[in-house]
Amino acid sequence: MKFTVAILGGGFAGWTLQNTLQSMGLPAKEIIVLEQALNGRGSSGVLRGMMHPFTGRSLFPRPGYLEAWHFSRNWFAALQAQSRLTLYHEMPLWRVALTSAAARQFARSFARARENVPDYPLQQTPLPEGLAEGVLAAYGMSPALQVNLPLLVTQLANSSQAQRQLRSGAPQLFYQKGHWCIQTKTDLWRSEHLVFACGQDLKTYFPDLPLSRKRGEVAIARCRHNLPGMLSGSGMYIAPLGPEHLITGATFYHGERPWSPVQSWRSLSQRLAWLPALQEAQPQQIWSGVRAVVQPDREALLGPVPSLAQAWVMAGFGTRGLLQIPLAAQTLAATLLNNHGISDALKADRLAPAAWRFNPTPGQG
Ligand SMILES: Cc1cc2nc3c(=O)[nH]c(=O)nc-3n(C[C@H](O)[C@H](O)[C@H](O)COP(=O)(O)OP(=O)(O)OC[C@H]3O[C@@H](n4cnc5c(N)ncnc54)[C@H](O)[C@@H]3O)c2cc1C
Repeated sequence: MKFTVAILGGGFAGWTLQNTLQSMGLPAKEIIVLEQALNGRGSSGVLRGMMHPFTGRSLFPRPGYLEAWHFSRNWFAALQAQSRLTLYHEMPLWRVALTSAAARQFARSFARARENVPDYPLQQTPLPEGLAEGVLAAYGMSPALQVNLPLLVTQLANSSQAQRQLRSGAPQLFYQKGHWCIQTKTDLWRSEHLVFACGQDLKTYFPDLPLSRKRGEVAIARCRHNLPGMLSGSGMYIAPLGPEHLITGATFYHGERPWSPVQSWRSLSQRLAWLPALQEAQPQQIWSGVRAVVQPDREALLGPVPSLAQAWVMAGFGTRGLLQIPLAAQTLAATLLNNHGISDALKADRLAPAAWRFNPTPGQG
C-alpha cells in the first residue's frame, strides 16, 4: 500500500498532524498513522494536562509561546465545539513561589515581561484566604486550560480512518526509489514522506540525539476541599477534578522503572505540605509516564530530518505538548504540503549533524 504521508506514532503529536493534514486538503486515504502500542499509550496518556504559556522557572514567555497559546486555545475551542465532548475545562491558574530564590526569579521575569510583552496575561494575584501556607508570591492568569489528554487523543484517532496498529514493535525503515518502506514481520507500507512523531522513542531511530528522559507520576486523589483553580509551585501542579477530587503531579525522576503507588503518593503528598487543607487527600488512581526533553535548550524538534530524504520530525515536546503541538502540526503540515518555513527555535537542524545518525533497524544497534 502506498501513501503520501506516513506518521510513526499515534500520540497527541501524530494524531494532531494527521488531523491538520486532512483539514488542509490531503485526503484521508493518503495518510497513515502507525502506532506500535495503543493510541495515547505514550506520554499523551497523562490523565490531565495544564495548558498555559509559561515554563516552570520563569514568568517571561519564551519566543513563540504566546503565539502558540492563542493558536492552541482557538484550536481546542474549535475541536470541542465540533466533537461536543468536554475535552478541556477553563479555570484560573496561579504560579506560586515557595522559596525566596523562586520569588526573586518570578519578580524579575514578571517585571521584564510586563514591560516588554504586549497583552501579557499574568497578574500579581493573591491566593484565596486560608488556602496555602508559606507562599511568598502568587501570580495568576484566567483562564488557563486543563485538558483531558486521553479523551482528546481518542477523539482525534476515532474521527479518522488513517490508523494502522503495528503488531510487532518498531518497524524497519528503508528509503528506496523515492519512497520510504516501513516494514514489520507481517506488513509493508510505502510512503512518499515519513514523519517521526514517536515521542521519547525517537532515540530508537536516532540513538545519538540529546534527548533526556524523565519518568513522572500523576495522581488523582479524593479530597473534601474544593480548589479554586490550578496551582503550580514547588515543581508540581495541583488542580481540581470535578467535585471532591483533585489531580496532582508530577514526581519526575531519572529512572526507567515506575515507582510503586505508595512511593509515588508519598512523594506527591509531601510536596503538598504548603496546602494544609489538602492533607487528608486520599489517592484513587496513579498514572506513570515518560517525558522527553531536548538538551540543552528544552525546545521541540520540528522539520526535515537533516540526515534523511523526505523524512520529518515532530517530537521532544517535554511538558509543553498541549501548548505547542497544534501550532507545530499546522507549521509542519504547511511545510509538507506547500513548502512553508519553520521557526529557527524548533528547527531539527540546530542540532549537530552527528546527532542525527540513523539506525534503520531498531534492536540491532
Ligand atoms: C508526568 C507527565 C506530565 C505531563 N504534564 C503535561 C502538562 O501538564 N501539559 C502538557 O502540555 N504536557 C504535559 N506532559 C507532556 C505531554 O504528555 C507531551 O508533550 C505530549 O503528550 C507528547 O505527545 P507525543 O505525541 O509527542 O508523544 P507520545 O504521546 O509519547 O506519543 C508517541 C507515540 O509513538 C508511539 N511509538 C513510539 N515508537 C514507535 C514506533 N517505532 N512505531 C510506531 N509508534 C511508535 C508510542 O507508542 C506513542 O504512542 C506531561 C508528560 C508527563 C510524562
